Amino acid sequence: MLSCQDLLADLSEYLDDGMTVEVRRELEAHLAHCSTCEVLVDSTRKTLKIVSENFSYEIPPEVSGRILARIRTALEDR
Ligand SMILES: [Zn+2]
Repeated sequence: MLSCQDLLADLSEYLDDGMTVEVRRELEAHLAHCSTCEVLVDSTRKTLKIVSENFSYEIPPEVSGRILARIRTALEDR
């Protein structure tokens, strides 16, 4: 079973559809029972969507990376 940290490590790929079916299935299994990560994924996806709509360009990897880093820090601080 994946930990929350494992999920976060793969989150940007998950949101970019840049992963194998097997990994995706593992992440979704984790999300199904972990409401913390479910909320994180949902809010990250919404944030990225808002950013890309407002600026109408592809989000540079370093920007989504920065958002993910902030989420990771928040999770570790709990
Ligand atoms: Zn989790």
